[in-house]
Amino acid sequence: MTTSRRDFVSSAGFGLAALGLPALHLSSTTSYDLIIRGAAVYGGAGTPGTEADVGVRAGRIGAVAKKLAGKGTDEIDGKGLALAPGFIDIHSHADGGLAADPSVESVIRQGVTTVVVGQDGGSHVPAADGTTSFLKYFRRVDAMPSAVNLASMVGLGQVRRIVVGEGNRPATKAELAKMTALVEKALASGACGASTGLEYSPGAFATQAELIALCKPLRARRLPYATHMRNEDDTLIEAIDESIAIARGARCPLQISHLKTAGARNWGKIDAVFARIARARKSGLDVTFDRYPYIAWSTGLTNMFPVWALDGGDEPFLQRLDDPATAAKIRTESEDKAALIGGWHNVQLASVRAVADSDAVGQRLDDWGKSRGMAPYEAAMALLKNSKTNVSTVVFGMSEENLEKFLAHPKCMICSDGGAFAVSGPARSGHPHPRGLGTFPRVLGRYVRERKVITLAQAVDKMSGMPARRLRLAGRGRIGVGAWADLVLFDPRTVADQATFADPFQYPVGIPTVVVNGKIALRDGERVGTGNGKALTSLV
Ligand SMILES: [Zn+2]
Repeated sequence: MTTSRRDFVSSAGFGLAALGLPALHLSSTTSYDLIIRGAAVYGGAGTPGTEADVGVRAGRIGAVAKKLAGKGTDEIDGKGLALAPGFIDIHSHADGGLAADPSVESVIRQGVTTVVVGQDGGSHVPAADGTTSFLKYFRRVDAMPSAVNLASMVGLGQVRRIVVGEGNRPATKAELAKMTALVEKALASGACGASTGLEYSPGAFATQAELIALCKPLRARRLPYATHMRNEDDTLIEAIDESIAIARGARCPLQISHLKTAGARNWGKIDAVFARIARARKSGLDVTFDRYPYIAWSTGLTNMFPVWALDGGDEPFLQRLDDPATAAKIRTESEDKAALIGGWHNVQLASVRAVADSDAVGQRLDDWGKSRGMAPYEAAMALLKNSKTNVSTVVFGMSEENLEKFLAHPKCMICSDGGAFAVSGPARSGHPHPRGLGTFPRVLGRYVRERKVITLAQAVDKMSGMPARRLRLAGRGRIGVGAWADLVLFDPRTVADQATFADPFQYPVGIPTVVVNGKIALRDGERVGTGNGKALTSLV
């Protein structure tokens, strides 16, 4: 491309410098695959929106200018709308449904263009028989093709499962060496961090020393240890301290997953949580966290039971429920957990495997128990037995006031922690937490526009730029020349979630257009084309 001085598009005077964009060198004859004209462009680094045209060529952003002279094969009028980098969901469970339904409707319709999976210690790979590596997994995602990009952590629970097994015992020296090698290999193949789920089996059986050893390979790559901590309620502070100790021991960045204060009696701990994060950061540790915009969490019903009871896996757990030696102790601890969240009524059933219990889905646990003539605890045991522990729940136990404080924290990114769904077809299943269909528009509608907890520019950064930088995803999370064209066009005046706890299967409104790697995936609210997502690997 030849350019002359006259053809240079000056960045002065209309705020492109504010977007952090370099001066543009464009000839007026330049053509583009797509031009989105006249939207308020939010660059992704927390800067305010600036009206500009964005030209896309060969999957990447070719130009950003106040008035782009070139022609687009396709053009979209963005007047009155906001254009942001496609949202990056830094803690997603969309990998669960991706293979069955790569169109991931509920994800793309929120403006999400990249999901970060392999969370809570559970990743699809490495596989037990060693046949599936991250390289193969990423190739499979590329071939699907997935509607959205996918990056994955390596799950340290999965690594423990295939090397040590389901048991509650420390790893031997040889096992630790084997696990570390698996983590090394995953990171060398492009995994974007290492995750744990320390409230889950078998991840919970890892000691602090083991986790420090497994996180050491993260250091050289400056990738985070992302943790669903050992506890989020009565020993929340101790769990924060442990997370910080692990990151400090491994000298790696720390990402606290879905940070919360669970149970009313722990809501007052938020200041202590922030103080510990501030102190750790001051000492040089790179600590950030993520959070979804709801006051209920969602997890397996087994989470209402003590994790020691899961030693050895599901079968031994089910036996212990009836074993006189353990049954009473399990019940006491489980009823304590129910008391913590204000009673079993605050547990809503999201899915069950046993068809005979499908009437439970969408009901509160105590209500369903009543309909079967059972006390709540008996109802919980019955569900777990009938479904071989495959029961998921939505649990109401958090503070709205604290939620706003978390979202407003400068080191908080937005995650959904949700799966992928659709309002019709096979991907409409169970009665899920609405976060899988509403997280990102809910932040933009409720917490930006209505509650003014954060500005739109801050929200965009928390949803795109910050996670891209955190996971070192090159060319993502910003609108600038050379970046990949992952884009979301939305109406800041109307964008809103529609999914509720009572009626989760509803797509959001106010997000007309989504572009993934330069191709339109959603246009005027309608799905277009097949998947154009790729597996993303971290810059290593
Ligand atoms: Zn989690």
